[in-house]
Amino acid sequence: MATDPKAISAPKPGNFLRGIIERDLEAGTYASRHFGGTPGDAAHHQAGPLDPARIRTRFPPEPNGYLHVGHAKSICLNFGLARDYGGACHLRFDDTNPEKEEQEFVDAIIEAVHWLGFDWQVNGTSHLYYASHYFDFMYRAAEALVQAGLAYVDEQSAEDMRANRGDFNTPGTDSPYRSRTPAENLARLRQMQAGELADGAAVLRAKIDMASANINLRDPTLYRIKRATHHNTADRWCIYPMYTYAHPIEDALENITHSICTLEFEDQRPFYDWLLERLADLGLLARPLPKQYEFGRLNLSYVVTSKRKLRELVAEGIVDGWDDPRMPTIFGMRRRGYTPASIRAMADGSGASKTNIWLDYSVLEGCLRSDLEGQAPRAMAVLDPLRLSITNWAELYGSADHVEPCQAPAHPHVPELGTRSFGLAGELWIERDDFAAVPAKGFFRLFPPRTQPDGSVVAGNKVRLKYGLVVECTGFEKDADGRVTRVLARALPDTRSGTPGADAIKVKGTITWLAVHDAVAATVRLYDRLFTEAQPDAGGRDFRTVLNPRSKVVVQGWVEPSLAAAPRELRVQFERHGYFVTDRVDHGPQQPVFNRITTLRDSWAA
Ligand code: ATP
Ligand code: MG
Repeated sequence: MATDPKAISAPKPGNFLRGIIERDLEAGTYASRHFGGTPGDAAHHQAGPLDPARIRTRFPPEPNGYLHVGHAKSICLNFGLARDYGGACHLRFDDTNPEKEEQEFVDAIIEAVHWLGFDWQVNGTSHLYYASHYFDFMYRAAEALVQAGLAYVDEQSAEDMRANRGDFNTPGTDSPYRSRTPAENLARLRQMQAGELADGAAVLRAKIDMASANINLRDPTLYRIKRATHHNTADRWCIYPMYTYAHPIEDALENITHSICTLEFEDQRPFYDWLLERLADLGLLARPLPKQYEFGRLNLSYVVTSKRKLRELVAEGIVDGWDDPRMPTIFGMRRRGYTPASIRAMADGSGASKTNIWLDYSVLEGCLRSDLEGQAPRAMAVLDPLRLSITNWAELYGSADHVEPCQAPAHPHVPELGTRSFGLAGELWIERDDFAAVPAKGFFRLFPPRTQPDGSVVAGNKVRLKYGLVVECTGFEKDADGRVTRVLARALPDTRSGTPGADAIKVKGTITWLAVHDAVAATVRLYDRLFTEAQPDAGGRDFRTVLNPRSKVVVQGWVEPSLAAAPRELRVQFERHGYFVTDRVDHGPQQPVFNRITTLRDSWAA
């Protein structure tokens, strides 16, 4: 996929959901709906005023893990549509499964959605809901379905039930319990609910059609018996609704108009409609009913988003935790330095379609660079330091300790960001690869004088120290292993940046540097992609076999004195190196820690 950072400001890409919503608004499909102010049944909503929200969408995470970039897509889509069409988007915890859910995840999800820039408060009303608050209604609806002859208690063994469901080519077989009377079923359901049956001894099933071509309509299970303590309702229930039964009811109770989910739920849509139509016929739910629409999942190259695989990365210590800057979790991306705006731009820029999409990671990085380019202050940093000594400094300035004050704009095009100050002195740090003892062809930075075969001497190379002056390399020192330990140079008079005549001497290279006396020591974590393959788990491959061994390289470097008091989560551009952020956990005034967000250019492009 093309990487065009400008694409983020281009017209919105295809999003068929917008078309659906616009047609519904024009036709007034939902204009006559009433809203009781809180979720509720038909009577509750009918007693309320006309719904002030033109549409209602929802983001319904299961609180069983940390949100990742795929969830960010769904959040931006649902909250974005509600915002654009005068609607409301609900944050709903789909916490109907008692076994896997935890408060820790609830809190983390709330923080992540807020951080992305979305809110569920609309005109002073908070639309933060828990599916478990609807357990009473769900059970009432179950009794109503039983009484109407639309559901039955099945006591076949799990194996028989599976065998009798049939398969794609074979119709299912009716359960021997299918012909129980409504009165028998009601009594049995009440026993299930009262805890008189063992876990797994019976289930409640919808009575639809065991021969349906859609296997999801072959009498799907509505309730199971499971003695488990729920994070919200504790031990109040020993039967729990199945997701396929609970989800449509949650949508209807909340007056959702457009229930947007990923493609794998397409086969569930007929049951979604079947259930809601029956419950509306029974007078329990208000019409018009919500409708389900499916869109394609977002996948990012070089990233895995399955919760199970993310858990393995953490559990096996391959990464340093859920918020490791290499993780595609929202917390990981935040710690890496991604901005909420860049994630929203990526999500909006990828539209919504009827097929799953693979987005190249470079698109996300492009969105980030476009966002940071105009706002991140610049600074110099030396990440692989080599000492540079200017041997004629005292001669030129009268003292070996002389400091030439330098100033530079914090941002070349945003004067409001102010200026930064640092000193130029005789002892400097430069990047090790800005010097070459034996220059390769086309190398324009520092290299020493050399003697030609005919005995003549070619002078060392000259470069401009950015914001400083021009220096000419006069030699270098190395240790017993041959490693260069110091570069020697002389400064050329009258070449100070910003003075008349500074350009009299032309040089081909400009390098960044820091003065030894005022540079601030910093730990710099150079993060890169976690995997070396674009589809790490393609074809069932074990993602552990394609880990990038250099996904995290920690170096000790030097940064400009202007960053001595940098707060956490400050994003800067280190000139020539890329975008960096002060770590939101480990960074502090005595211990600066920077994470590399991304380099200035894509180094992975095929
Ligand atoms: P995972 O399969 O990664 O564990 P999930 O679908 O089980 O994700 P939920 O908490 O149920 O996790 O997801 C909440 C919402 O986010 C759902 O509506 C789901 O469809 C959506 N969602 C999850 N992953 C993606 C994705 N990659 N692209 C778009 N939407 C997604
Ligand atoms: Mg799910």
